[in-house]
Amino acid sequence: MLRKNRLFTPGPTPLLPAAQTAMASFTAHHRTADFRALFQRVLAGMKEFIGTQHDVLVLSCSGTGVMEASVSNLTSPGDKVLVLTAGKFGERWTGLAKAFGCKADVLSVPYGETFSLNEIRAKLTSDVRAVYVQATESSTGARHDVKGIAKIVREQNDALLIVDAITGLGTTHLDVDGWGVDFIIGGSQKALMMPPGLAYCAVSERAWKRMETATSPRYYFDLRKERKAAAKGESAYTPATSLFAALGAALDFIRDMGNGNLSNGREELVNNAELCAEMTRAGARALGLKLFAAAPAAALTAISSPDGVDSGMIVKEFRESFDAVVANGQGEMKGKLFRMAHIGYYDYLDTIGILAALEHVLARVTGSAVEYGASVRAAQEVYARGLSGKRQLVEA
Ligand SMILES: *Cc1c(COP(=O)(O)O)cnc(C)c1O
Repeated sequence: MLRKNRLFTPGPTPLLPAAQTAMASFTAHHRTADFRALFQRVLAGMKEFIGTQHDVLVLSCSGTGVMEASVSNLTSPGDKVLVLTAGKFGERWTGLAKAFGCKADVLSVPYGETFSLNEIRAKLTSDVRAVYVQATESSTGARHDVKGIAKIVREQNDALLIVDAITGLGTTHLDVDGWGVDFIIGGSQKALMMPPGLAYCAVSERAWKRMETATSPRYYFDLRKERKAAAKGESAYTPATSLFAALGAALDFIRDMGNGNLSNGREELVNNAELCAEMTRAGARALGLKLFAAAPAAALTAISSPDGVDSGMIVKEFRESFDAVVANGQGEMKGKLFRMAHIGYYDYLDTIGILAALEHVLARVTGSAVEYGASVRAAQEVYARGLSGKRQLVEA
């Protein structure tokens, strides 16, 4: 049968056609009035997309570049930082903190789990200068309680809270300013439905202040330089110009989702991910599969491989039969789980389709009988319930 290549990976994610078209035709030089207009429109839109009044910067790099900037700009060698880690991306924080000479106090919980707020409270001594965490740990599909963590940090001391929301933004309801998040990070190849190459952050006043005294080395990622340039509608160095054009189109699409209001569009995008995720979880359970994460994120669903089956076989079979790309586990989780994303440009048909394909894939790799339609039906029921809920709301 004909196969269409489709990504179900937690980044890069499927591309918005309008973003692709915008990129393809874009030629403006970055030191022109035309580009400045686009740049300023994009930065203003990104504030609404993130849901913040803080300064937003968009940099030309992958997400890890801005993760690094959040360490190099906000810490000094010898600073004690608290790293909360529950997966491969949490471990990246530890690596970054060490690379810049911080004393990293690591609160680590097993893959698939999330943190106890009491343990965080106990670790948050007055000498902790910054706390690093993920909103959603893409390697395990777990959701962390950013609101709860922020509350503790704000109560306890003046530590900065830095959140890697690279798969969290656009899939998770986050109140960045209200909760007191000092630095939140996102990437273009996730919920923004664009290719990799841009990463962004929102920076609180408290964080800007810290930057003045932080002494870690930085040059390309000196955020004070970017802030100054942004005030004039420019970036410090040559930006990925065509990706800014794509971002403009992506923000227009999200605004349309919100009937002309970008913040509403963001909420719609989050609701969409939540519904896709709920359908997927119901579908997986209907096939007797176990979810890997105790508190699953809407960004992606990590599913444990059935006993005796290497998840690599599942990934391979998706690819060979359907040209669908799902993600294997990373590191120690390789072979044990597979991951299907709901970040950004996924709809009902994508979700139903991948579940139907999952049934065929399981039948092939396990060699045992699968009740065809079981996961599709469970997902349809979730969808129908959501729909009837909405109808009632409209009628009420
Ligand atoms: C994708 C991702 C990143 C960033 O990775 P890059 O490859 O540098 O873009 C960081 N954290 C999380 C949670 C992610 O999902």
